[in-house]
Amino acid sequence: MNGWAGNLLRVNLSDGSIDKEKLDKEILHDTIGGMGTATRYLFDELKGKIEPLSEENKVIIFAGPFAGTPIASSGRFCMVTTSPLTNYFLQSHCGGHFGPEMKYSELDGIIIEGRADDPVYLLIEDDHYELKTADKLWGRGVKATTSTLERDNDPESKILAIGPAGERQIPISNVKSDVYRSLGRGGTGAVFGSKNLKAIVARGNGKIDVSDPEYVKDHILRAKESTYTNAKGFVDFGTTNTGGVVHHAGGLPTRNFSRGKFETIDNISGTNYVKSIWKGRRACFGCPIGCSHFSAVGGIRTEGPEYETIFALGSNILNDDPETLVEINEMCNDLGIDTMSLGVTLSWLMEASERGIIKGEYSWGCGKEILALIRNIVGLEGIGKDLSKGVKKASEIHGGTDYAIHVKGMELPGYDPRICQGMALAYATSNRGACHLRAPIYVKELFQKTMVPETMEGKVGPTVHTEDLMSLIDCLIVCRFASRTLMDESFGGMSEMLRAVTGASLSPDVLEGSMKRIWTMQRLYNIKQGMSHEEDTLPERFFSEELSGHRIDRELFNANMQEYYRLRDCDEKGVPTKASLRSLGII
Ligand code: SF4
Repeated sequence: MNGWAGNLLRVNLSDGSIDKEKLDKEILHDTIGGMGTATRYLFDELKGKIEPLSEENKVIIFAGPFAGTPIASSGRFCMVTTSPLTNYFLQSHCGGHFGPEMKYSELDGIIIEGRADDPVYLLIEDDHYELKTADKLWGRGVKATTSTLERDNDPESKILAIGPAGERQIPISNVKSDVYRSLGRGGTGAVFGSKNLKAIVARGNGKIDVSDPEYVKDHILRAKESTYTNAKGFVDFGTTNTGGVVHHAGGLPTRNFSRGKFETIDNISGTNYVKSIWKGRRACFGCPIGCSHFSAVGGIRTEGPEYETIFALGSNILNDDPETLVEINEMCNDLGIDTMSLGVTLSWLMEASERGIIKGEYSWGCGKEILALIRNIVGLEGIGKDLSKGVKKASEIHGGTDYAIHVKGMELPGYDPRICQGMALAYATSNRGACHLRAPIYVKELFQKTMVPETMEGKVGPTVHTEDLMSLIDCLIVCRFASRTLMDESFGGMSEMLRAVTGASLSPDVLEGSMKRIWTMQRLYNIKQGMSHEEDTLPERFFSEELSGHRIDRELFNANMQEYYRLRDCDEKGVPTKASLRSLGII
């Protein structure tokens, strides 16, 4: 095959079996790869209601057809599972080098089932697969785990690992890839931990052929040429100067989303870091942009922080100390904690403490004291035990649900929907809970300025279209920063690239139809898990409190939601209609 490797690895941790299975070409053409193929396996194989941390849940990891080819910025891969944070469908995407390494071992994906009796890690070396003991790794941080596995195996191996947060099945934990890249959001680390799976080590020496090498060669030249013009901002500053743009628009989450400006945002932005602690750039596999920066401060050598960490553990908790932020970020890397969920949970704690709901003083911008609090979260000690469950559950235990900033249990990203109102519907409808990546309308509102930000009018159709287009990007898989700046980010453009890589001629309309089918499978999965349409909403704060003179109009929001359901072929309660399921070939 071109593009796809044509195989998946099925690992059952309960009985220790490991089987390589051929991937049906028809399934690949229907689902494309990456998130799409992983969604299809989750939907087909987990029919009953699934407890996220039970033996029945599965870890489904897939790369796309572009991984391992020279297509620019295509080293990403994704994990699909049932989220212990939301209880619903979870997709999580990660950069770095693991995806191509898996493809070079002739695997498009890995499905992990069951639960091991004792800690293990999965070793993949070309066509050698083995479950090895992780007894000596259990309890260790991500950095020590990764370096030990590199020492004990081929040092060129690419490694997924969890830290103590994942081992303790904390719903805001994540899986780290080569330490600094994350399968973030939704508790991926906890799912690994629940299976006693400490790590996956992959090393492959194969290669992935493409169908039209001349096209691909030309694509690389064009991508390289565009990098220093179209993607220069990412080259120089990565995501770190986003804070300044969102601050000037008045929508930078500050003080638990109660304000939209943070006057000292420049202290924790790339313009400051580039002068102080950044020492150079890092890139994921095959990426000409290299948006990540490595930093050295005090005794810490690390990468980042990225914008989502800057807002969540910076402006949103009133922390403007650049060195403390790096230290917190590094601690989260090693423990395996999602910085976005952590920051939004801590900002709720600080507000709840200020309002007298929580005993104990957790003051805004408390700097290094946060390090002790994070240790309590991972140690499940004191208030840390409740915080480890994420902001939804913590607020249900202690009160303050109106200012617990989440959708379906997933804490919000760094774009206040009162200021970029296209994100209101995007957050409310995302199948994994609040997410800026499923329909990143904020890019058009705040960066490209092709949409008026402070209104929800006329944005339902674009939300559906963007969700489907981004789904295709997540199936192929290409980094969003590159698809936006170096490529023709359209169904037509992606159809042409898919043809050049795999030889499959799938028209833009066919691809769009496939993405609608994938969205519908995710929606059905959530409904099966007990989700109600009443959860397609936003935190109360956005409806009842103004930010810079703007709030979310509840009536218009509800009307938009009905319009969204109609465009998604759902009934008024957001359930896909029988006719739609028949036309999509789901029944
Ligand atoms: S732009 Fe950044 S995140 Fe995207 S592939 Fe390149 S280095 Fe990785």
